[in-house]
Amino acid sequence: MDPSKQCLICVPLTAKTVKKMLFQLELAKESGADVAELRVDLISGFDAAADLPVLLKDKPLPVIVTPRAKWEGGEYKGSEESRQDILRMAYDLGADYIDVELKVAGGFIQELRSRGKDSTTKIIVSNHNWDFTPSDEEIHATIEQMWATGGDIVKYVTTAQDITDVAQVFHFLSESKGPTIGLAMGPAGMISRLLAPKFGGYLTFGALCKGQESAPGQPTVQDLIEVYRVKSMDRDTMVYGVIGKPVYHSKGPVLHNKGFEELNLNKVYVPLLVDDFNKFMNVFNRPDFHGFSVTIPYKEDALKLCDRVENAAKIIGAVNTVVRETTGEYQGYNTDCEGALSAIEKGLRHSGLANNDETPLKGKLFVVIGAGGAGKALAYGAKERHARVVVANRNYERAKALAESVGGKAIELDQLSDFRPETGMILANSTSIGMEPEVTRSPIHKDALSAYALVFDAVYTPKQTQLLKDAAEMGAVTVSGEEMFYGQAFAQFRYFTDLPGKLRAPVSAQCSIGTYSRGRMISTRLGFDKLLQRGLYPNSAQFGMLMDKSQVQLVNLAFRC
Ligand code: NAP
Repeated sequence: MDPSKQCLICVPLTAKTVKKMLFQLELAKESGADVAELRVDLISGFDAAADLPVLLKDKPLPVIVTPRAKWEGGEYKGSEESRQDILRMAYDLGADYIDVELKVAGGFIQELRSRGKDSTTKIIVSNHNWDFTPSDEEIHATIEQMWATGGDIVKYVTTAQDITDVAQVFHFLSESKGPTIGLAMGPAGMISRLLAPKFGGYLTFGALCKGQESAPGQPTVQDLIEVYRVKSMDRDTMVYGVIGKPVYHSKGPVLHNKGFEELNLNKVYVPLLVDDFNKFMNVFNRPDFHGFSVTIPYKEDALKLCDRVENAAKIIGAVNTVVRETTGEYQGYNTDCEGALSAIEKGLRHSGLANNDETPLKGKLFVVIGAGGAGKALAYGAKERHARVVVANRNYERAKALAESVGGKAIELDQLSDFRPETGMILANSTSIGMEPEVTRSPIHKDALSAYALVFDAVYTPKQTQLLKDAAEMGAVTVSGEEMFYGQAFAQFRYFTDLPGKLRAPVSAQCSIGTYSRGRMISTRLGFDKLLQRGLYPNSAQFGMLMDKSQVQLVNLAFRC
């Protein structure tokens, strides 16, 4: 990529004293940022004549000097005249950029230029809408006014009330006739910041660390560089993401982006905070938005919206993975089922509880607690693997409907503690009981767990739920929801990548982490991309091994985060 066209990462510095701002400037340099914005309006008792020379002397990074006016959302307390004096002084002292609001830019820039002084300082003309995102026409008209002021760079900032507002930001960035900064503030506007380089943005903002944001919805500079790899993003970068509400807690971006990086793929995976699923899917139905993970509460909406849905997802009644075909049609899948069942089967195999390698669940009594999306995936997957299914749910009618659909039996939730028709059963919790913050709750009495050989909990925050602790104490093998999470994410990863064997590779072809850790990996020294370049994937079993190496690394990474 032409480095002169690379989107810059700017850290806004929000310290209340000059000394602290200088310290932040050093940290900004260390963080890998390209530019720092000195929000001098936030410095208490700021004295431009004394403080500006100190801030601009020996600066380790290019800086933008911004004395943001109160009428534009800033904190500057002095007169408008003294505020503009700060900008003049910064210009004369050779600040790399000054930020001038559109409202005053016309006259101010004319006056600066008419003084005939040579300066390398670039003038950013800015406009902020703190309430909403105006129409395309209004934005276009305002941007024309901004260029007419004679500034060097235009900065147009809106507020996203809905994620689809960001499409307008991407539109004006793509059409810009000069260096343009375009962002949508607020949680719904997050992708305007993460994807700015893809759409030709001149600069995007990242906070030094959490808690130091200068505007709502700002990511950290570390996230921008390490998770979203904005420095290598370009117009061809394909976009993937997780759609949900809430969504910012998701580990998906760390996992998928690390996978894309490992495989040297020009793809990025972002959190998508969506209020209206259908609206989002229509507005962003474009070739460069290629695949989505779908989480609570949109799995059923995804099922309805997709043009084609794999059979398993239809039966389960939920789609958690959507891939956009080149025709613009959406194809839906459910990877929760594969994620959960492969984790349980792995648990059985590793603990020597498997009847045989092919179908370790065959003939086992499989008790599912819950009849929601995850419960349906578990019951369907268990039936497919020839287990005998029992469903217990708070709402008994739902338990009955699910049990009937898989040829199983329903029981009331409060019957569960006395339900011990045999020993060696499998128990799978798919309710949210035990999830943070109610971490001491369990859906079943501890004593009843003695009848189970293996206990699985779909809840993964915390990793060790009360149910799993009780089960371990009662001697059962335990499998955590985190294993399901990684399993379903890796199944999605295969749909999101065009690698050989994307492979609807059979589950059994995926080697386990244990296999890898016992040293049966084909190579630990070569990078993934190099292995692929050398064609070391002739069959699905080897591909399974490759996936497994990636899995190990990603799992490790996720644990560190
Ligand atoms: P869902 O469709 O809303 O279903 C929720 C289920 O939990 C229903 O059966 C509901 O019973 C039951 N439930 C909720 N609160 C309850 C309570 N206080 N007492 C008894 N039963 C209760 O949700 P979902 O998508 O299936 O997700 C369920 C859980 O699985 C969540 O904790 C989620 O985080 C987890 N999950 C994990 C993964 C993973 O990768 N590990 C993937 C998907 C889901 P009623 O029918 O009576 O309302």
